Amino acid sequence: MEYLPIFFNIKNKPCLVIGAGEIAFRKISLLLKAGAEVTCVATSCCSNVADIVDQKKIKYINKEFNSSFIKDQRLIISATDDASLNKYVSKLASSANIPVNVVDSPDLCSFIMPSIVDRSPIVVAISSAGKAPVLARLIRAKLESTIPHAYGKLAELAGIFRSQVKNKFNNIEDRRYFWERAFSGIVAEKVFSGKIDEAKSELEMQLEQSKDSQLGEVYLVGGGPGDPDLLTFKALRLMQQADVILYDRLVSDGVMDLVRRDAELIYVGKEKDNHSVPQGNINQLLVDLAKQGRRVCRLKGGDPFIFGRGGEEIETLAENGVPFQVVPGITAASGCSTYSGIPLTHRDYSQSCRFVTGHLKDGSMNLPWSELAVEQQTIVFYMALNGAQHLSEKLIVHGMRKGMPVALVEKGTTPDHRVHTTTLEELPGLVANTEIHAPTLIIVGEVVKLREKLNWFDSENISKPV
Ligand code: SAH
Repeated sequence: MEYLPIFFNIKNKPCLVIGAGEIAFRKISLLLKAGAEVTCVATSCCSNVADIVDQKKIKYINKEFNSSFIKDQRLIISATDDASLNKYVSKLASSANIPVNVVDSPDLCSFIMPSIVDRSPIVVAISSAGKAPVLARLIRAKLESTIPHAYGKLAELAGIFRSQVKNKFNNIEDRRYFWERAFSGIVAEKVFSGKIDEAKSELEMQLEQSKDSQLGEVYLVGGGPGDPDLLTFKALRLMQQADVILYDRLVSDGVMDLVRRDAELIYVGKEKDNHSVPQGNINQLLVDLAKQGRRVCRLKGGDPFIFGRGGEEIETLAENGVPFQVVPGITAASGCSTYSGIPLTHRDYSQSCRFVTGHLKDGSMNLPWSELAVEQQTIVFYMALNGAQHLSEKLIVHGMRKGMPVALVEKGTTPDHRVHTTTLEELPGLVANTEIHAPTLIIVGEVVKLREKLNWFDSENISKPV
């Protein structure tokens, strides 16, 4: 970090602005918003500054700047187009240990001013350390569009109840739980729709209820195939809200980086045939944690309802009366094929697509082979790396042509994404002679050829011109 981000209290403190043009006006406005007593020194001023001088909001000294003006100032901003004056102000302020900002001259500043999103009392500050102010502004624009304006009102309301809540809950975790429930539930909804009084009553009611009487909740969240950019907004929101995260091997590091920082993380393993925690225990753990009043995120690779055993988990939750939400995720078939330039369906090559499990049970797969070994269809095999030889033989025996194109997508959508292409006949040889790591998905069908036709580069998948 090149600068320490801090929020500086300048309420009723003398602050000096040198210069009175449009830029100076913007700085003065900010200082006034933060409650400063502003003095402006300049030999001429723009009409906006003249207006606030007339309104007696600031003190204006219509003189050349000299060193006596910096006396007793808490903060100085130089916003003139006179480079030597700016330099002089910076030097004087630094030797007097007064924080100084010179507009557009990071070298002359002891502090820089961030781009801000103002939802007072909530304020978000963004800085690029002066390296890419335009990028900082773009980020700001994004935040502006995602942070509801009413957050300021919500924060005001929280401020009113803050000490009451502190008195009621000694424990910081209980307090946090209370506030998160308020900010992400009905209280927030009421504030957003302008019903502040109703929000207040709701908050009072929630304060009366004891935490023990509150049941937790389980979020069964699809974390997608690996690339964190493929998470849904809802997945992200719930991942950042949960107190406990249960995750397994398929959830990528990039996705795990986005869970709430202080959430408890429980690894429930799952290597093929080597379940670190048996499924029944996972189901029960979800129930137990929710009954302790905790918000539990069961984070799964891909989509929870596609070969994810999500159905079993929610069945147990339903039996035990635990509330739950399920959030779909991008399944491996979709993520891996898209990032590899392989459309799963195509007008000319494939009118349907089947997702099947290639998990070997007693050395074989119990699949309707004659339905699979047909033309104009794409088959996506999950969990099939060990069963590659078996599936190749079965499809050929059931009439699929030996030259049918096949792709193996290894660690799809992650930085280690790799694609191996071959034919149905040569698939077993490729798997035997190549180091291929799980998780790997096998795609069988004419559509695999499109990758070549599109001259696809995996690393460029998103911005690929059509
Ligand atoms: N619920 C998951 C699938 C779980 S089954 C989903 O919807 O994607 C596990 C299998 O999914 C793996 O054996 C592999 O075949 C496939 N898989 C999951 N993530 C993958 C990835 N990033 N790259 C390739 N295959 C993946």
